[in-house]
Amino acid sequence: KTTTVPNVDGSINNTEEDDEDDVVDLAANSLLNKLIRQSLVESSHRVEVLQKDPSSPLYSVKTFEELRLKEELLKGIYAMGFNRPSKIQEMALPMMLAHPPQNLIAQSQSGTGKTAAFVLAMLSRVNTLELFPQCLCLAPTYELALQTGRVVERMGKFCVDVQVMYAIRGNHIPRGTDVTKQIIIGTPGTVLDWCFKRKLIDLTKIRVFVLDEADVMIDTQGFSDQSIRIQRALPSECQMLLFSATFEDSVWQFAERIIPDPNVIKLRKEELTLNNIRQYYVLCENRKDKYQALCNIYGGITIGQAIIFCQTRRNAKWLTVEMMQDGHQVSLLSGELTVDQRASIIQRFRDGKEKVLITTNVCARGIDVKQVTIVVNFDLPVNQAEEPDYETYLHRIGRTGRFGKKGLAFNMIEVDKLPLLMKIQDHFNSSIKQLDPEDMDEIE
Ligand code: ADP
Repeated sequence: KTTTVPNVDGSINNTEEDDEDDVVDLAANSLLNKLIRQSLVESSHRVEVLQKDPSSPLYSVKTFEELRLKEELLKGIYAMGFNRPSKIQEMALPMMLAHPPQNLIAQSQSGTGKTAAFVLAMLSRVNTLELFPQCLCLAPTYELALQTGRVVERMGKFCVDVQVMYAIRGNHIPRGTDVTKQIIIGTPGTVLDWCFKRKLIDLTKIRVFVLDEADVMIDTQGFSDQSIRIQRALPSECQMLLFSATFEDSVWQFAERIIPDPNVIKLRKEELTLNNIRQYYVLCENRKDKYQALCNIYGGITIGQAIIFCQTRRNAKWLTVEMMQDGHQVSLLSGELTVDQRASIIQRFRDGKEKVLITTNVCARGIDVKQVTIVVNFDLPVNQAEEPDYETYLHRIGRTGRFGKKGLAFNMIEVDKLPLLMKIQDHFNSSIKQLDPEDMDEIE
């Protein structure tokens, strides 16, 4: 097993000095979610299935035993603490493990069990007597490849003869090396290089091809084309699987180009709503004034944990220093940190080690911290045209209807920003009440 740690892909480490923290890095967010996720994401929607051959029976499984897996693989699954298949796995696993193999396009939000599903498929299809690459998994970054590799290693813990190798930048394997590992996980560019230039992998012998994080993949220059070049060299009987957390048209078009005759499985995302959230605003003169209002709120109610959003890194830093000087335990989550540093800050916050997390847009987008009862918009989210950014507002404050807890949201508003707040109120058709920060009794 490889342990080489090459340089981080440029996309992850955002060290630019740009103050506007509004470049969403899909790969970094995805990795962050993986690093902090400890359990399945619940969903109240039904799984939608579109079969390649609608007349063939549709199987779903409620237990892992029904899948008739190798003993050592089943042991690995139980050792990971999985009791039964997730919603998406109930439908996807029978298709993925069918004979003859079926192709699949699967879309569901992150945390619903896609990785575990395809890792299981790869592990179950490896012939341990054959010492050459048999399963190939493409991932958008080195770190994401490594995360998948870790799942292979954990789930395959008792499959002692199955081995993984990473085809990633920086993992230098001399030309002519006899690659005996059966599962290869890598980024498209390096995999292409290993297959065509250095002839380390014989694509005609691949049985399972996985394209993970298709939405992140197509977001990266060149990866779609490279993936398609790899796919074109696979044998026709190779099983092809594609996974994505989101499914815009562009992902769909790519999926259809790269996966022939697919079955399609979709699990809709839980919608965010503002229904369970009581929203308030406080009118302020300036930044100092906002800070004072924040302190009043903070002192006025006993709260669990709070996340405070700022529009710029500079504001976030300023606020962090102010709060620290006033003796609050706060941590700052900002875009210039590495993904590992961000993950550890979020982890500490989730463990309750800090009560307040101050952050900018990018960092907290798509990262759920369920136990937070209070969200503060120290600055309202606006776009470049200085119009309200409704989507970001909803992402910061909204909860999923069925699983979300009740919450409180406070908006700190300079007088000239009041029209923006009114627009937000109208947009969501939900009321945002004015609050006198001197009088916390108004909060029901
Ligand atoms: P995705 O690839 O959709 O983001 P993962 O496969 O990474 O989802 O699963 C999300 C989390 O849930 C991981 O921590 C994983 O170990 C766990 N998980 C996956 N499948 C199951 C299952 N059947 N039972 C319990 N936990 C599971």
